[in-house]
Amino acid sequence: MPENSRTIEDLLSIVEKNYMNPDVDLIRRAYHLANEAHQGEKRLTGHDYILHPLAVAYKLAEMGLNLNVVAAGLLHDVAEDSEVDIEDIRKNFGDDIASLVESVTKLKKVVYRGVDRYVENMRKMFLAMASDVRVIFIKFADRLHNLQTLYAMPVHKQERTAREALEIYAPIANRLGMSEMKGDLEDLAFQYLFPKEFDWMRQIMETKVREKGASVTKLIEKAEQILRDAKLAHVEIHGRVKRLYSLYQKMQRYQNDISKVYDLIAIRIVVEDVAECYAVLGFIHQHWVPVPRRIKDYIAQPKPNGYQSLHTSVFCENGDVAEFQIRTREMHELAEYGISAHWRYKETGVTPQKNLHWMEELVVIQKELASKSDFLEQLEVLKIDAFKDRIFVFTPQGDVIDLPEGATPIDFAFAIHTEIGNKCTAARVNNQLVNLDSALKSGDIVDIITDKNRKGPNPDWLKFVKTQHARSKIKDKQKHVMGAWLRNVLPKSKTKL
Ligand code: MN
Repeated sequence: MPENSRTIEDLLSIVEKNYMNPDVDLIRRAYHLANEAHQGEKRLTGHDYILHPLAVAYKLAEMGLNLNVVAAGLLHDVAEDSEVDIEDIRKNFGDDIASLVESVTKLKKVVYRGVDRYVENMRKMFLAMASDVRVIFIKFADRLHNLQTLYAMPVHKQERTAREALEIYAPIANRLGMSEMKGDLEDLAFQYLFPKEFDWMRQIMETKVREKGASVTKLIEKAEQILRDAKLAHVEIHGRVKRLYSLYQKMQRYQNDISKVYDLIAIRIVVEDVAECYAVLGFIHQHWVPVPRRIKDYIAQPKPNGYQSLHTSVFCENGDVAEFQIRTREMHELAEYGISAHWRYKETGVTPQKNLHWMEELVVIQKELASKSDFLEQLEVLKIDAFKDRIFVFTPQGDVIDLPEGATPIDFAFAIHTEIGNKCTAARVNNQLVNLDSALKSGDIVDIITDKNRKGPNPDWLKFVKTQHARSKIKDKQKHVMGAWLRNVLPKSKTKL
């Protein structure tokens, strides 16, 4: 039996632990059907196939998703290649579980031809999510276990599976605010796609945790003392270590200067309400001097995916910088589980009310989708909160480009390639010539017309571009043109511009 594989007993015990009065019989029955259906079937790892659905269901139960989702996790591969079909599942387990299994099965079967694989996958994910977002949770858990057993796959499949996880699944998990899932998917994929960098980040992390472990423990004790003295009851204080892929991305932004990464280990303080968050921030700043411009109020200004917390970096006694993240219990739950938090089983019976319109919007989208067949139109309809500030447009080859709302053909051109931006002279949107400052819409197919003799971008474009990327590229090019001109005028000058 491989490491971290789960048995039906393990699954039942986490269900008993995470749910109040769970329908254990439902889980048992789903297991028996799955076990029978996969009898004799092996995975490439050489293990019995049933270990896969068990792992998927275990993850879903760990996330505390309602038991129908857990049961569907057990049954998710049954209808694909066994005697058992969706109707059998419907008869035994009812409509809800049957339709979840059916959606997961359909997601695997749909094959688009002649379109970029990335677009295909995006389409499938969007559509499945719009019909029932719980299908995506099962897909995430499925992909997670596939990544955990990727070592048994041929190398080209490893690469493809890992790349899809990194480029499609993880960004969607992120958009849905599911940071734990995003982190798990990214770190597993990272290991396969960039093994050297992965080892490097792991080494950094091990060294830093060794170096800083003791001082973080002291900081936590001190923070607990401060809160006690202030008579502020906290729910929880804990240290959290940055994820490896997220560290890698940050290192790239800071030219690999680890000393600039302040949140390698952060201290999280969870309290009951928002007023207490600000009170805690005040007490933290009374005891430790905050690093200028490092205070982020994501409570007043949440991130686009709904993330809320107060972040502050402070100078500690030993000269180190430490980051505190302060949030309410509800914010904590949403930060870890995002949209899936709404489907979590609640011990207290209390469901977070905020952001519940996500669910309502999804229902609306589901209805609208039912009446439309064209995917591009559907994309237009997909204005759920998580995607509200972004648009998705297509290259003529079918690649998806993700841009902020109001983005123009110039933003699009630079998003594809700097040279396409630099040489852009006109743009066609859905086969119509448009002005370069016109706002693009989700689903638009954008074709950039370039002129290779063009010297560079028009500085006037700075007046309407929406992305920082396009802005900086236009400015860079201007500097470059000026630099070349100066060098021509002053051939021996060492002026660096
Ligand atoms: Mn599967």
